[in-house]
Amino acid sequence: MLVNLVEILKIAEEKKCAVGAFNTPNLECVLAVIAAAEKLEVPVIIAHAELHEDVAPLQKIGPVMVQAAKAAKVPVCVHLDHCETLSYMQEALEIGFTGVMYDGSTLPYEENLANTKKAVAMAKAYNCGVEAELGALASREGGGANASGPVYTDPEEAVAFCKETGIDALAPSFGTAHGIYKSKPVLDLDRVKTIAQKTGLPLVMHGGSGVSPEDYRTGIANGLRKINYYSYMSKAGTNAVRELLDKEDVTFFHDLALAAQKAMEADAERAMRVFAGKNP
Ligand SMILES: [Zn+2]
Repeated sequence: MLVNLVEILKIAEEKKCAVGAFNTPNLECVLAVIAAAEKLEVPVIIAHAELHEDVAPLQKIGPVMVQAAKAAKVPVCVHLDHCETLSYMQEALEIGFTGVMYDGSTLPYEENLANTKKAVAMAKAYNCGVEAELGALASREGGGANASGPVYTDPEEAVAFCKETGIDALAPSFGTAHGIYKSKPVLDLDRVKTIAQKTGLPLVMHGGSGVSPEDYRTGIANGLRKINYYSYMSKAGTNAVRELLDKEDVTFFHDLALAAQKAMEADAERAMRVFAGKNP
């Protein structure tokens, strides 16, 4: 069933766990993630990043995501990830997205604040929840380096930002990075705890794939309620395709797509187990 970002984060808060948010830039990803969530009977967020517009245009994949969420046996939020332009957000709202992340983290504070306020006003008219980012991760979505390097979120600034904008969830910067990690990430999870306590809002981990189960557990105990996970799931799909091609003389593309889908489903399931506090 389709639910909004506020509702799904409330479920996570009640259970003191985190909801996984998975980018789904093609049908195989949509099917894999929803199947894993239904198997484990956990709520899930499926997300479309503005960055993936070339892979799957919002106007084409968006309605597929909304339809899949409505048909799912578990609560599903359809979320716009790293939206940097408000007109793009408007398109998603009209398609029926129930969560949006406005990312003004590269802008000066005042501009980020003003745009996030606008995003909140737009989203509320559609009963859609809003996540925003403050501080800057070491890398941009898609893996490119952040020009200014990582800027960890200041707890006091976070309190003022959340209060003024009226957002529903905050993505702070505390040491994670997008893409595939080259070395083990060192996370400032005390900062997460402080920001969660001071703002009273559910917090979001970006660059969540590649983090150790131990860090997930501590992060969740400290207030993370949404964990963005994509790169390692996608890599699992690629590996499955490579193995199949090494083993067999495959003719049909749909056989490769199906192998990738099954591998991504298994990887998403592993991640969801940890986020939900279930045994591995
Ligand atoms: Zn992100």
